[in-house]
Amino acid sequence: MPTEELKNTSDQILMGTYTRQPISIVRGRGMKVYDLEGREYTDFVAGVAVNVLGHGHPDLVAAIQRQAAQLIHASNLYYTEPQVKLAQMLVDHSFAERVFFCNSGAEANEAAIKLARRYSHGKYGPGRHEIVTMKNSFHGRTMATLTATGQDKVQKGYEPLLPGFSYVEFNHFAKLEQAIGDKTAAVMIEPIQGEGGVHVADREYLKAVRELCTRRDMLLIFDEVQTGMGRTGTLFAYEQFGVEPDIMTLAKGLGGGLPIGACLAKDSVAQSMPPGSHGSTFGGNPLACAAALAVFRVLLEGRVLDHARQMGDYLAKGLLECKDRHHAVRAVRGLGLLQGMEVEIDAKSVVSECLRRGMLINATSERVLRFIPPLIVTERDIDRLIEVLSHVFNRHTMESPGH
Ligand SMILES: *Cc1c(COP(=O)(O)O)cnc(C)c1O
Repeated sequence: MPTEELKNTSDQILMGTYTRQPISIVRGRGMKVYDLEGREYTDFVAGVAVNVLGHGHPDLVAAIQRQAAQLIHASNLYYTEPQVKLAQMLVDHSFAERVFFCNSGAEANEAAIKLARRYSHGKYGPGRHEIVTMKNSFHGRTMATLTATGQDKVQKGYEPLLPGFSYVEFNHFAKLEQAIGDKTAAVMIEPIQGEGGVHVADREYLKAVRELCTRRDMLLIFDEVQTGMGRTGTLFAYEQFGVEPDIMTLAKGLGGGLPIGACLAKDSVAQSMPPGSHGSTFGGNPLACAAALAVFRVLLEGRVLDHARQMGDYLAKGLLECKDRHHAVRAVRGLGLLQGMEVEIDAKSVVSECLRRGMLINATSERVLRFIPPLIVTERDIDRLIEVLSHVFNRHTMESPGH
């Protein structure tokens, strides 16, 4: 279907929940994707931090093909090996001892919220059920997770929201201390706020939060849906803060493009969800788990994490140099290959300009650009990105000499 027709039909029959860029992507290879007209783009979006191995990675493709031919789905009424192997991988490489599989980030957080409530209910009885989350956070689009999300624009029009949530300023320990009470069951945080504009938690802050949670037996939930699976240069972001959560959620990069989410926890916490207390028909399905296993193996055996850390530094350096050269850039923030750039000009127009120059980037708001490439990104790709950005900022300065 020609792009224009695809666009028109799509705008007529799909619910209007997204504003899409005006291209139709038909295939991908490594760091590149190609549109219907055969134009090539360098991908600094990676399907919103999902395609950690880039496009068409041979190990991932082979694993999916093999598993699809063998068994695609069986449900959780039976044992399936890929699910157990993946859970073993996650447990072997994290603080966690138990895993629950689902299909998305929102569902992983939904499981975390349910687990926290159930744990507290079982141990302290009803009434101690509140979860404190951060302003400007993002935890998903289901009713529980949009309630957990501290952003009006995500919640607006969906009231009544779920009871039992409160919101505090991110990175502000005194505000958190004030907000907790006898009814608080858990604190939920993204170590780096992704959708909220790439804000990195302070190490000391997370340590203080951990101590507070331990002291009061409140569960610490890390939403690593975006930061997990090597995005920040370590398998999980929490490793870099020297702080372990009680519950952690994953999705985005986990399946390398196949939909899968996971809620991980300490055994003592996970015990509060006995048979029948939670579930998901597709959760941990053999196809998605085989894909995630392949991703995991490449990350660990292919030294991809070291590479991601180096490329993260290189990207941050390039963006900071860009900031020094261009007045339009106000700040650069991030960790590893999750980088944000705050600009004084309309971020959406920068995204469009980059698209026209064959570069896919994303804006989290009117003023923040986000760079979340596949972890296989090279120095050459990053050089090209900085070149394109410089070009766009130069052009903007010429058009508005008042700047
Ligand atoms: C994307 C994201 C979610 C939601 O994930 P979905 O798969 O879209 O449901 C939750 N938390 C964080 C931190 C995210 O970045």
